[in-house]
Amino acid sequence: MVPFYRLERYDGNAALFDMVLMSIVSTYAGEPLHIHAEGLRGTGKTTIMRAAKDILPNITRIKGCIYNCDPENPHCPEHRNMTKEEIMRIGTEEIPMPFLEISHSAKVGTVAGSIDLSQLTDRLHPEARLLPGLIPQAHRGIIFVDEINRLADTSPEITDILLDVMGNKPGHIQIEEAGLPVVDITVNVSVWAASNPDEEPGPLEEIRRQLSDRFDMVCYMGRPNSVDILANILRENSHCGKLNKSFRKTDPEYDRQQNDKYRQNIIKWAQTYMQTDLPDFLRNFIARLYIKHNLESIRAIEAMQQGAVLHSIIKGRNTPIVNDVTYMIPLVLKHRIDGDALVRLMNEVDARGVRDGILNFKGRKKKQSEEVDVDYFKQTGRPLKDMTRSELINTEKSLTPSDF
Ligand SMILES: [Zn+2]
Repeated sequence: MVPFYRLERYDGNAALFDMVLMSIVSTYAGEPLHIHAEGLRGTGKTTIMRAAKDILPNITRIKGCIYNCDPENPHCPEHRNMTKEEIMRIGTEEIPMPFLEISHSAKVGTVAGSIDLSQLTDRLHPEARLLPGLIPQAHRGIIFVDEINRLADTSPEITDILLDVMGNKPGHIQIEEAGLPVVDITVNVSVWAASNPDEEPGPLEEIRRQLSDRFDMVCYMGRPNSVDILANILRENSHCGKLNKSFRKTDPEYDRQQNDKYRQNIIKWAQTYMQTDLPDFLRNFIARLYIKHNLESIRAIEAMQQGAVLHSIIKGRNTPIVNDVTYMIPLVLKHRIDGDALVRLMNEVDARGVRDGILNFKGRKKKQSEEVDVDYFKQTGRPLKDMTRSELINTEKSLTPSDF
């Protein structure tokens, strides 16, 4: 697998790299951020998400606790009533932040929990105990679901579990087994998902709107559209490139160093995040957007607030600016309002809100606001208002005409 730092970056996938980093930072700081990458096959959504596993920082847990109990704040049935001294006697250990995957054929028992058969069949001390499933085991980490639209279509029970887990921050999960009392456990898990809305059974927001709304951010992955980048990808994947690769000395030590750089930044960013709040004028700006455009989803504007702060931090700034909020708009609203309403909102923010309203209100100089503008359009190259609707929303049909 190509290490995270070596993955090809271009305009169409820049937002996903940002979202992945923002979610890791937020999760490490103790606040989940649920993200969903939509796009056609071959845009590398799952590759990017799975590669992020290598840059996850370590977390400290009570030694051997399969629920990843934080020694400062134990939550599992075994440790939650213990005293500080008892926990100190057990000791602590460092493990990599969990990254577990739910396949779309997973069973409820695997995901939530089931009876621990090894304990039940223990000849000396038979005991009915719960074995936590993937989600409780991913506490303080990440759960990844590929093809979430298919999961929502075929597994309503697992979808309901995800709705609970993502309902609040932190979420919770109930483990039920016949003959055992129901166990309710807090889980602080960020859910990452990927899907191709052009394939069966269609976009998630049409299959289970409620689950779609639980995702704080959705990024629609574009295809690479620059000749340079495509030529680069072709070179890497040509037979010569592949042959070279297999002979080329891989340097695991160098890869480790690069991953470590990310890891250290993530820890630093998470510390900054815990101390950074959105300035009041930006909070008011978001509130005005909500009222003016009838946004309905409180989750959407909460995600806008969380995302704006995280975005400013991963871009190396300590104070969020209006640019960080406007960058969030398509990510938090794409799956919540229809395409026309989104374009209208973006146009309006672009035309009057940002430059003339907010920045002058803060008494900034014209020159600064121009800089902000340049930065804002860097990701897309062109303002959204200059694009037609068909350019914004591509479907499999429009990209691959059926005449061939
Ligand atoms: Zn525990």
